[in-house]
Amino acid sequence: MNGMADSSIPNMQRIEVRDLAKSYKVGGRRVDALRGVDLTIDEPGFYGVMGASGSGKSTLLHLLSGLDNADRGTMLVGETSVNELDEQALTMYRRRSVGVIFQKFNLLPTLTALENVVLPGVLEKLPPAELDARGRSLLEDMGLSDRSDHRPDALSGGEQQRVAIARALFFSPAILFADEPTGNLDMVSSDRLWSVLERLAGERKMIVLMVTHEAEAAARCRQVFVLRDGRNAGVIDAEELDPSELAARAASVAGPV
Ligand code: ADP
Ligand code: MG
Repeated sequence: MNGMADSSIPNMQRIEVRDLAKSYKVGGRRVDALRGVDLTIDEPGFYGVMGASGSGKSTLLHLLSGLDNADRGTMLVGETSVNELDEQALTMYRRRSVGVIFQKFNLLPTLTALENVVLPGVLEKLPPAELDARGRSLLEDMGLSDRSDHRPDALSGGEQQRVAIARALFFSPAILFADEPTGNLDMVSSDRLWSVLERLAGERKMIVLMVTHEAEAAARCRQVFVLRDGRNAGVIDAEELDPSELAARAASVAGPV
């Protein structure tokens, strides 16, 4: 085995979600975060999730990433039925099959950029030379070759997020989930990050599924799935739309987003 794509992992270029439901108990009250959501992606590319705050976007990504259990419904990611994985298989799924990035970059502050990137490989005890080669190659791909020895607090927000992406790509997943990845970034850094994500979707033939409020990002997507109150509100074919058209369309489906 090497640190590159593991051929034992099936090529995962589809996501099929059916009737996905999830509620949380808060005090004595039940909050229905998802009330039966469907979603189909069967080609690599850049896809968006939009919807008002509280509509269930983060919950959807959490469940797809295997970070939480669904109450009802099915999630097929490639050949993997995510809700049927046991604890051990789920750990492997999270580490190898999908990449996940969040609004907070979640880097370890005491580690350098390179050390953060190779962490998934360290957990799987890959040889040091391979960790180093793979880590440097990913940092280079993110335009961060000259930042490999910097700790997170010596990097800009945009750089930190690109380190987080490099880490998420360590085992060459076919799918990347991103929950408001530009939420803490300025316009210029956001723009750069969207370009990186869009490029990954194209060059690596990945599915990149991203939650965003920003019409500029959503307009780069093939399709945008709009949620409203834990349900599907509509799917927007975004390819032909400019950001203002996209924003108007999303608002008419979801209410203001
Ligand atoms: P969004 O990302 O679209 O803003 P979320 O998926 O985070 O929405 O939340 C959907 C609903 O579920 C909200 O009402 C939220 O308060 C609730 N919720 C989300 N996560 C939790 C949690 N861990 N515990 C309790 N309630 C939660
Ligand atoms: Mg959210």
